[in-house]
Amino acid sequence: MKCTYCLQEFDKLTDDHIFPLSWYPDTTPENISKWKAPVCSTCNGDFGRIEEELRLRIAHCLGIMDSGAHGIVEKAMRSLKPGYGRSPDDSRRRLRKWEKIKKEIMPAQKVPTAAILPGFGLKWDQDLLKTLAIEIPRDLLERFAEKIVKGLTHVFCGHCIPSNYRIIVRLDSLGEFEDLLIKYGKHEARGPGIEVIYVKVADDTYAMAYKIVIWGKLVFYSYVLPTQ
Ligand SMILES: [Zn+2]
Repeated sequence: MKCTYCLQEFDKLTDDHIFPLSWYPDTTPENISKWKAPVCSTCNGDFGRIEEELRLRIAHCLGIMDSGAHGIVEKAMRSLKPGYGRSPDDSRRRLRKWEKIKKEIMPAQKVPTAAILPGFGLKWDQDLLKTLAIEIPRDLLERFAEKIVKGLTHVFCGHCIPSNYRIIVRLDSLGEFEDLLIKYGKHEARGPGIEVIYVKVADDTYAMAYKIVIWGKLVFYSYVLPTQ
């Protein structure tokens, strides 16, 4: 059996939630079937850590009132509060996470405009001098986006993306592919916080374009094309 993410063969695979369970907002209908993909335990563990690093940081940049992100901020803050620990060890883990995150919080003035994640940044009524920022590691965001694309392709098309295809991730726009997506894309959603538009490109079995919107705010585009 082949792992959807690393493409290695294994005797046993586990189910990975393509969008982690902790990323589903509280408004997600309970009976919705959440997308999963068969993956090896190494990938499952590695991506679990990446997703947690991202979630705790991005949650600091969401508003409590963001309609696609109900409960996400609160859940992330609880993960950082020792008082919510289920055991002394768990409390210490939460405290360590918070100590690490706390060190990364910086004044928003320090952030160059070009480095702000599209869709984030200051709101009209915010004061730059009083606003804080946190770095979202781009490499982690891209690895996460690639994983999502691999997993969703498995769900929607029933195959893994072969190793002679590359997955390109964009945080801004897809240019010509975006027009394709708008015109021909298929829209899939898992409640209000997780939306996907995808389209197969030309006659190529594996070529695809994706637009993925999480919490109505975090947007990434991706296309899958044969390696030249
Ligand atoms: Zn794997």
